Amino acid sequence: MHFKSNAYHKRNFGSIECIVGPMFCGKTTELLRRARLSKIAQLNVRIYKPSIDTRYSAENAVTHDNVQMSSQMVENAEDLQKRVEGEWGQVHVVAIDEVQFIPGKMVEVCAQLRDRGIRVIVAGLDMDFRREPFGEIGDLLAIADEVVKLKAVCKYCGENALFTKRLTEGKDVVQVGGAQDYTAVCEHCYLKT
Ligand code: ADP
Ligand code: MG
Ligand code: ZN
Repeated sequence: MHFKSNAYHKRNFGSIECIVGPMFCGKTTELLRRARLSKIAQLNVRIYKPSIDTRYSAENAVTHDNVQMSSQMVENAEDLQKRVEGEWGQVHVVAIDEVQFIPGKMVEVCAQLRDRGIRVIVAGLDMDFRREPFGEIGDLLAIADEVVKLKAVCKYCGENALFTKRLTEGKDVVQVGGAQDYTAVCEHCYLKT
C-alpha cells in the first residue's frame, strides 16, 4: 500500500470529535494538534472561535502556553455555517475552539457539516464555574463520534482537576478570562477553597 501525495479522497461522511474539560486542561492544545496533523495530510482546515474570545489574539487560536494557529472569529452558529458554505468543496476539516461561547444552533450546524462530509473537531468547557453543564455542550457530546474528556492539574493540591473555579467576583456565567480569573481544581479543593 502506498499513499498518493496531493490526493484527497473525499470521504462519504464526516465526523464530530468533541474535546472537553475544565480550563487549562489542554483542549486548545489538542484541537490544534489535530488541526496540524490534518494539514500535514494536505486537508484544508479552517479554525473558528467565538468573537467574544479575544483573550490572546483576534486572528489566532492560542493556547495558554502560546501555541497558535490562524483562525476566524464567528458571531454565531449561522455565521460559522455561512463561512464554511462560502468555500464549499474546499474545506475538509472544521475545528472550533471555545464552542460553548458560540450562540445559536451549534448542535444542528455540526450535525449538518458531518452529514456533508466534513470532519468537525470542537473544543470547549463541559461545565461552567458552578459545575453545571455549559449550555448545550451535553447535546454535542451526545451526538459526537468521539468524546475526549481531559483533566487539568489542581492548582492547590496537584490532583486531577475536573472543575473550573472562578477567582473573581461576578455572577454572569459567561465572563471570558484567563489565569487571573479562573483556576483548575479538584473536587476537594473546589468545595474547600
Ligand atoms: P485549555 O484550552 O484547555 O484552556 P490550553 O490547551 O490552552 O488549555 O493550555 C494547556 C496548557 O496550560 C498546559 O499545557 C500548561 O502548560 C498550561 N497550564 C496552566 N495551568 C494549568 C493547570 N492548572 N493544569 C494544566 N495545565 C495548565
Ligand atoms: Mg482553550
Ligand atoms: Zn485539589
